[in-house]
Amino acid sequence: MTTYALIGAAGYIAPRHMRAMADTGGKLALAYDPNDSVGIMDSHFPDAEFFTEFELFDRHVGALQRDGKKIDYMTICSPNYLHDAHCRFALRSGVDAICEKPLVLNPGDIDGLAAIERDTGRRISTILQLRLHPAIIALRNRFANSQKRHKVELTYITSRGRWYHTSWKGAEERSGGVATNIGVHFFDMLSFVFGPASRNEAHLRAAERAAGSLECERADVSWFLSLDRNDLPESVKGKKTTYRSITVDGEEVEFSEGFTDLHTRSYEEIIAGRGFRLDEVRPSIDIVSTFRNAPIVRSNGVHAFAQKA
Ligand code: NAD
Repeated sequence: MTTYALIGAAGYIAPRHMRAMADTGGKLALAYDPNDSVGIMDSHFPDAEFFTEFELFDRHVGALQRDGKKIDYMTICSPNYLHDAHCRFALRSGVDAICEKPLVLNPGDIDGLAAIERDTGRRISTILQLRLHPAIIALRNRFANSQKRHKVELTYITSRGRWYHTSWKGAEERSGGVATNIGVHFFDMLSFVFGPASRNEAHLRAAERAAGSLECERADVSWFLSLDRNDLPESVKGKKTTYRSITVDGEEVEFSEGFTDLHTRSYEEIIAGRGFRLDEVRPSIDIVSTFRNAPIVRSNGVHAFAQKA
């Protein structure tokens, strides 16, 4: 049976990991979160140990390892800026890591993690669940060998309340900002389907929204992301809180369904030795890090929503 430890057990995404562990026949042995709102653990793993102090969690991980009660994976669901440190902790404890997105905030951190992978012989896999979405796989199959350049427009509006800006998610140094925290899935998907980006232009960078354009190997991309429900198109305002649209050469890519069990699919792949590793993460981390530091200009491919903003 695959045995897990979990960091960040009280948060929004942790239950999806617990379900993925259970769905794939695994067991959560212990978990840690400074916040003790973890009653959700009873749904799958009532016997798991739980710690609110890192030192006691560390001690228990060490004790299990010494007693030969092997932990196979340490799952990391903590705030983005802590992923790097928590991955190091997992590997130094002799345990492979499964880390939520974005793996790290800057490309230089990937080099550091690669060095620890080499030193410890352990590995890090990250959650990039869109790569496992059937519609995205179909898109990649369709465009991976395309000989022409395509025009892609990405619009993603996902309403968040005021709490977002009080939490770590609203602090750029902790989450990376909107483009990193919300956008990294899409930038990974775009480079997965259309190849890595060579030009990366920033058009808009604010607490609530971000926009820019990318020149990928096989596509010119204009993108717009927002957390503000006022940006929702009139057609969905008052009916939905999220609007997602991706067009390729003017044709809408349909992928509104099929999101529910992608964490379980991610675990199946990781357990089978096909997790997404450091090199696969790098293109999207390069994109978000470059965007964060780029000057605001409006030369190429400005998204219509960004022109209004
Ligand atoms: P959250 O704020 O709901 O949960 C984060 C948890 O980490 C909280 O319970 C918090 O108490 C805990 N925490 C804070 N400091 C900690 C520390 N020092 N050590 C250990 N735990 C600590 O956030 P969330 O939405 O669950 O996001 C968690 C991670 O999952 C983030 O990296 C986020 O980007 C990612 N995420 C991924 C997806 C996806 O679709 N793959 C969706 C949402 C979030």
